[in-house]
Parts: sequence; C-alpha cells; structure tokens
Amino acid sequence: MSTSVATPTSAASPAGAASPAGAATDFHGLLHLADTSAPNAALYDACVRCGLCLESCPTYSLLHLEPASPRGRIALMRAVGEGQLAPTAPSFLAQMDLCLGCLACQAVCPSGVEYGHLHEAGRAQAAAVRQKSALRRVIEWTVFQWLFVSLGRVRLFARSLWLYQRSGLQWLARRLGVLRLLGMEGAEQLLPRIDDRFVIADGSVYPPLWTAAEQSPRRVALLTGCVQSVAFAAVHAATIHALRVNGCEVVLPRGQECCGALHQHGGELARARELARRNIDALEAAHADVIVVNAAGCSHHVKEYGHLLRDDPLYAERAAALAARTRDITELLAELGPRPPQSSLPWRVTYQEPCHLAHGQKITSQPRRVLAAIPGLDFVEMAESSMCCGSAGTYNILQPEMAAQLLARKLDHSAATRAEVIASANTGCMIQMRAGVAQRGMPVRVLHVVEILDAAYRLDEQGVSARASTLTSS
Ligand code: SF4
Ligand code: SF4
Repeated sequence: MSTSVATPTSAASPAGAASPAGAATDFHGLLHLADTSAPNAALYDACVRCGLCLESCPTYSLLHLEPASPRGRIALMRAVGEGQLAPTAPSFLAQMDLCLGCLACQAVCPSGVEYGHLHEAGRAQAAAVRQKSALRRVIEWTVFQWLFVSLGRVRLFARSLWLYQRSGLQWLARRLGVLRLLGMEGAEQLLPRIDDRFVIADGSVYPPLWTAAEQSPRRVALLTGCVQSVAFAAVHAATIHALRVNGCEVVLPRGQECCGALHQHGGELARARELARRNIDALEAAHADVIVVNAAGCSHHVKEYGHLLRDDPLYAERAAALAARTRDITELLAELGPRPPQSSLPWRVTYQEPCHLAHGQKITSQPRRVLAAIPGLDFVEMAESSMCCGSAGTYNILQPEMAAQLLARKLDHSAATRAEVIASANTGCMIQMRAGVAQRGMPVRVLHVVEILDAAYRLDEQGVSARASTLTSS
C-alpha cells in the first residue's frame, strides 16, 4: 500500500552506590556489556562548572536540584568515569533517564561542552548495567531489536494499530477503562493516528514542477523514516510537492530504514550503527545532491552519522560525507528561497521549536523565514518556544510526569498566542502537541512548517485551474 503523495514518473536510477569519597574503585568490570563509547574524559573535563547552562535546562527549571542540571549530570558522568561512583548507582541511572537529551545546555555552553555526545555515551553505560524486569527486557527487545530494525515490520505493526483505531476497538477499550486497568492509558493517548495509506520508499522519482533555464534540477533524496512513513503521509506529500514547486527532483530511495535515533536515545548504539550503515548504502545509491529529512530528530541524527561511525574503517568517511549533504526540510526550503506562494493564507500561526532543530542543528531563523514567505500569514511568537515540549523520543512514555509538566507549560504558552495553528518540524513534537491539544480540547491544529507552506502552494494551483476553467467556459 503506497500513499498518493503524487504520481512518480519513473523508478530511481541505481543509483549502587557511591564509593567512599576519594576511594577510586574499578567499576569498569560492570561495563562489560557497555558500548566502547564510554564518555570520553576530554568531553567532561571541558566543563568548567560555570552554571551558565542551568536556567536553560528544562529538568532543572522544574526541579531546582543540582543533580537534575547539566552541570550535575556531567559531574555524575565524571565520577563514574573516574571510578568514584558505580555506574549502577541510582543517582547516575536516574539522571541519565531524567535528562531529555534536548541539548539546550549544549547550545548555550560558552566552553563548547559536547553534552549530546556525553549523554549518548552515559545512557549507553546505564543501559548496559541496569537491572531490568523480564517485562522491560521483552519490551526493549521487541522495540529496539525486532520492530524498529525493519520498515516492513513497522508497517505490519502499524496496520494492526490502524485496525485497532478504526474498528471501534480503541473506542471500546477507552470506554470500558481497560487501558487504565493495564496502566497503559497515558501511553495509548500518545499513539499517532495511523494513515490509511503508507509511504513506501520504492525508488519513485518525482520531477520538478518548474526549473530555471539552463540549470539542471537539484536531485533530492527523501528519508521517509519509520513513524513518519505510517502516520505522517501528509507531511511527506507536502515535502515532495513543495520541493517540486521549488524546482527539485525528489527521489524515495529503496532499501532505507529507520534512521536509528530511537536506538541511540535508548542506549542501543550497536543497533543505531547498523541502521546508519544500511541507510548510507541506500541513500548513496540514489546519487542525490541533497538528502532531505522532514523530522528534526532524524535530520539531526543523520547529521551525526559521521560521529556515530567515526571508528568504522569502511563507513567513517562515507558517513561524514553523507552527513554533510543532509538538510532538514526547513533548512533546505530556506536555502531555496523558498519560492513565495501567490495565494494568501490568513492563518494565525505560532511556532514550537523542536530541540534537535533549534539546539542540535542551530536552525532557528529558517523555519520562520519559510513561514514569512506566505502572504497573509499572521505569525506570533510563543514564550519559551525552544523549551522542550516533553516528547524527547520515548521520554513521554518512560517519564510521563515530567513530560506532562513540560507539555502543560508549552500548551499554556501556545494558548496565550491565540494562534489557530501550532507549527512544528518534528514527528515526536507533533505527536506530543496533538495529544495535548486533544486532551485540553483546544481548537488548534498542529502542522509541520512544510505543510503550511504547501497549503499556500496548493491554493495557487487551485487558483490556476479555476482561472483555466473560467477561460475555457467563456
Ligand atoms: S556545561 Fe558548559 S555552561 Fe554548563 S556548567 Fe559546564 S561549562 Fe558551564
Ligand atoms: S540535555 Fe536538556 S534536560 Fe538534559 S541536561 Fe541538557 S538541558 Fe537539561
């Protein structure tokens, strides 16, 4: 089942506890299962403990506790690295989990501490030594080792969810309180609405709708992703169409998989590397000028492939080259202009910034420039637009209370703008915001930036066809 994003013209060319103070203990034996990327001492040594990052940290802003701050977490990682603290210490495990990985601290750190890489390694350490219940082991194995390693399995699972949502079973389960009894009520509310038709990367090529004279069109390969391909077909359709309007040829390369961000956030670095290698093989074969990704968490992760595979003799260089050619869709559209629509879109819009776009990629002006290109659009900034909404991969499922507080704060700021549309640019943020908006009964739509731009392009096309039919009938 493939989506009706547009009609392609052809197939792609081949294209524990702390040790007594001062008693350095060798806890590293506990890390026998850990990935080789334990936090690098040079990374945590770069922190001068100035505290300038504290106010930007969402967990510190809610808890006001030093261990729940970036500086506190770096101290914990250093203590583990220097053998002062067991990696099984509850304080270390709890803080690795409680951190959103939002990178707000990294974005403001004057010493250039690479917190994201530190936390990635710290989480992998925690995942390797943590005592887990049999149920948690089964769930993690299913999610990380079975489901999200194959887009075919993701589609199979999505079809069963589609059936659950459309058959009335969901309504019944909610009505009878079954989900509450199973302790799954919160997680179930976060399920995105599964699309009727999925986007399958089958090698399709979509030609540009316009090209500059004497200039060959830019060939863009779209990473279709996992959740996006079964629940965000509208975002893919808008991405393909908006790029074609801007003179690009768009290809959906075969053989691509989930980008692996989910695995990396879960501390499953070996699996994240395997998925990165498979995507590099598939995307390289498309011979594209640019790799485009329309989920900010995924575009950030693909740009990190060079770091992820830095020790891989076969892939290190290829990963860095692919990362350098990768663009978030908002970034690419801003690079392209974008071509201004002619039609007016009189919507009041605010913008919720995805952490991995604003902090991870420092892409802040580009989405705003894309929205500013739309005639008639009434853009209004929300307070704390770059503060995490609480989604953060699986954070909203694993840390529901913290996530709910962050979501409530974000929704309050959104409501204060009186916007009818909340724009965002990441799948996880959109799922989180849509769930929050539905729970509060807010009369607001949550759309991707590219969907808003494309709505104006579609109006342009309707205007052209309406004018054409008037001419024909007169
Ligand atoms: S992470 Fe950066 S901003 Fe935060 S305490 Fe360390 S040096 Fe200062
Ligand atoms: S990544 Fe986000 S939650 Fe984690 S320490 Fe940094 S600012 Fe705080």
